[in-house]
Amino acid sequence: MKELIMAKYGEIALKGLNKGTFEDILVKNIKRRLRHCGKFQYMRKQSTIYIEPVGEADLDEVMAKLKVIFGIGALQRCAVFEKDFEQIKAQGVPYLEEALQFANTFKVEAKRSDKAFPMKTPDIQMELGGAILEAYPHLKVDVHNPEVTVTCEIRDKGAYLSAERIIGAGGMPVGSSGKCLLLLSGGIDSPVAGYMMAKRGLIVDGIHFVSPPYTSERALMKVETLCEKLTPYCGDIRFFCVPFTEIQEALRDNCPEEFFTIIMRRLMVKIANKIADSYEYGALVTGESVGQVASQTLKAIQCTDAAAEYPVFRPVIGMDKKEIIEISRKIDTFETSTLPYEDCCTVFTPKHPKTKPVLEEIIKAEQSYDFEPLIEKAIKDIEIKMFRVEGTTETVENS
Ligand code: ATP
Ligand code: MG
Repeated sequence: MKELIMAKYGEIALKGLNKGTFEDILVKNIKRRLRHCGKFQYMRKQSTIYIEPVGEADLDEVMAKLKVIFGIGALQRCAVFEKDFEQIKAQGVPYLEEALQFANTFKVEAKRSDKAFPMKTPDIQMELGGAILEAYPHLKVDVHNPEVTVTCEIRDKGAYLSAERIIGAGGMPVGSSGKCLLLLSGGIDSPVAGYMMAKRGLIVDGIHFVSPPYTSERALMKVETLCEKLTPYCGDIRFFCVPFTEIQEALRDNCPEEFFTIIMRRLMVKIANKIADSYEYGALVTGESVGQVASQTLKAIQCTDAAAEYPVFRPVIGMDKKEIIEISRKIDTFETSTLPYEDCCTVFTPKHPKTKPVLEEIIKAEQSYDFEPLIEKAIKDIEIKMFRVEGTTETVENS
């Protein structure tokens, strides 16, 4: 008996003429994630990708990998049969043993997209349900709230029987919407923001600012761990590590303390602009949420945005901390994010930051020192790494 996995489209199913492009990207992403899980044959039909192992493969592992790939609406592990009901019954009923042996209730849901199949949907459901009850007499049928739903789909190429259907990651395939640059701190919010933009089909790369010796090697390693943890969702992540010490010291020595945080954020954005120019990112992304801290008031956001030459996406802007934490736990970044190391944002923080900065005043204060040469230098000294889906990391030359 042959087993395979059906990955059913989420939003892609709603696409029109350009659907094929999205499918191509999704298949490419799937192949990449399954590279070390065995050999597979892929077939696309009826808004579904059929992933069939050629030889040995651990389908539990495959399901776990597929579960976090954006663009997949649902996953179903199934046995494949000829479109012959006697065969489906004879081999399919024993196949369901693992799923049904400890269950109390079940129902059968049949779908018949091949209208040439001689039985009607209700008949398939009744007859297959009857055969299951006979083989597993401890079971009861519950059509409203069954513990196990057995699906039997009669499709173009065969009959597919399954007792394992899970919800997929949803969203759009990563790479189908362009590229963005995530301002990644070691905190809770920005990894979640990156995850959310990847869900909308964006390639997410990261930029992080470090200020040694004020920030430690451990603090950087924590952010690198966050990149690693994001790759199952985001795919490969290019990571730019920007040396920010000299800029912060110049800022401390030359600008009014109360404006420190806002100007620092503007300088971060200015550096991100330049990276976006060189690497063709279409947007910047931050983990800001309105009202969370002094730099996240409307006035402060206005001042930061004024330095941006690209749209700035803030996917967690309207979320409570509690909601953001919920996602960070789900994607397993929470434990890392809450390690207690310092961030460059927390060095030289003013005692009384301006919560309602006026843009003209900020720009005037910023112009009292020429940051441009330091910005150029920082960009030249950026260290770049690639975090790969396969779990490997490599250093990339900064050109
Ligand atoms: P987070 O939990 O993401 O750290 P936060 O609530 O601590 O956010 P801030 O420290 O004000 O908020 O940072 C706001 C946003 O600025 C972050 O979400 C991130 O996008 C960006 N940011 C902060 N520090 C850095 C850094 N060192 N490198 C890159 N981006 C940063
Ligand atoms: Mg932070």
